[in-house]
Amino acid sequence: MNHQIDLRSDTVTRPGPAMRAAMAAAEVGDDVYGDDPTVNRLQQVTAELFGYEAALFAPSGTQSNLIGLMAHCGRGDEYLVGQEAHTFKYEAGGAAVLGSIQPQPLPQQADGSLALVDIANAIKPDDIHFARTRLLALENTIGGRVLSRDYLDAATTLAHQHGLITHLDGARIFNAAVKQGISLQAATAGFDSVSVCLSKGLGAPIGSVLCGSRDVVQRALRWRKMLGGGLRQVGILAAAGLYALEHHVDRLADDHDNAALLAAGLAGIDELTVSKPQTNILYADMAAAHCAPLERHLQEHGINARVTPHMRLVTHLDVSREDVTRTVEAFKGYFQVAGR
Ligand SMILES: *Cc1c(COP(=O)(O)O)cnc(C)c1O
Repeated sequence: MNHQIDLRSDTVTRPGPAMRAAMAAAEVGDDVYGDDPTVNRLQQVTAELFGYEAALFAPSGTQSNLIGLMAHCGRGDEYLVGQEAHTFKYEAGGAAVLGSIQPQPLPQQADGSLALVDIANAIKPDDIHFARTRLLALENTIGGRVLSRDYLDAATTLAHQHGLITHLDGARIFNAAVKQGISLQAATAGFDSVSVCLSKGLGAPIGSVLCGSRDVVQRALRWRKMLGGGLRQVGILAAAGLYALEHHVDRLADDHDNAALLAAGLAGIDELTVSKPQTNILYADMAAAHCAPLERHLQEHGINARVTPHMRLVTHLDVSREDVTRTVEAFKGYFQVAGR
């Protein structure tokens, strides 16, 4: 029996033997006391990699974004954010609920950016009627799309000219940097803070890191404790993160190649409209009637995917080139019969 192929997300990867060995060997201490040497090393390494003064480990990207926003913004402040952005749409409203920070959602352009004119127009004047516009939050990659450095320079400069803070949800910033062939420091230039995920394409089981100034990280530390994210001998997880940073960044190019191969294979099927992926995420559009039977068919062929009319497919560490070929064959098998 062939192994299961899981294309739902790049979060589904499982730690391999070498990563597990690094975890088992990790030196640990109580991280709430700041005593865990492996966590301290991960934080130092990540801060240096991205060019920030300090960094803080968090159990999830949701928490890392939230403590970042809460470190920057206070009650009655507002942040500008895309209406498709993770921090707005997929974090259960945490900034509003737990941070008393109002989101001001802006339309997402086709390339994933926020129009500069929309950003400028959304910045409220100092007037008692309005929330205080404090921060611009961008996301890169967004839906697998890479925002250009020119755009990021323009957007962060505009924000800073208006006195706004800039935060980057860089859950998949590693994919963006690899795709653009630039350093991680260059990829986050212009942002006062960035949240990066170790548990997406990098393949660690758990973990995100917030990078920023010492002040911001110190404030975020208190919020992390309040939210229940102060962990104890968590060097076991930080070791997985360190292993991932060392071994799993450059290989993201393989995921991008596999996504391109998958898109090219699926594009040969008449019933599908397939996006050209920029990184490891692609979309296949199809008639709704196909969704349930196609999902079953894929399941029977050992492929786990969530089939919707706008279906997302994600390649990662545990999807090989052969898996891509097998997936294309399974799709073709379904449509040869179902095409009818
Ligand atoms: C996955 C993700 C996060 C954080 O998700 P968690 O599941 O909380 O770790 C944040 N932003 C983006 C863009 C993501 O894809």
